[in-house]
Amino acid sequence: MILICTACGKPHADVYKMIMVTPGINLCDECINLCVHILHDDIDGSGLVTVTTGELAKLQQDALELSLARTWIGAVRNSMDRADEVITKNREPS
Ligand SMILES: [Zn+2]
Repeated sequence: MILICTACGKPHADVYKMIMVTPGINLCDECINLCVHILHDDIDGSGLVTVTTGELAKLQQDALELSLARTWIGAVRNSMDRADEVITKNREPS
């Protein structure tokens, strides 16, 4: 089953965590983090938060960089796992 974030459209394979809120409504960790940032900006406690276009772009850029870093770490881990397999296979007595 492929879960897609209802907010940003990313599949669960492209994000760290996907939360099924209700059937058909999913939120990825990046969108939830974005919401947390926005909620922290509710400094006057009015419940109304205005996010400027620049702030939103910065938050989205942060989320993108985090996502790219996770993808890169995953690729490095996969390469290391493959290298371990090759080393282990070459050590096996023939
Ligand atoms: Zn999302």
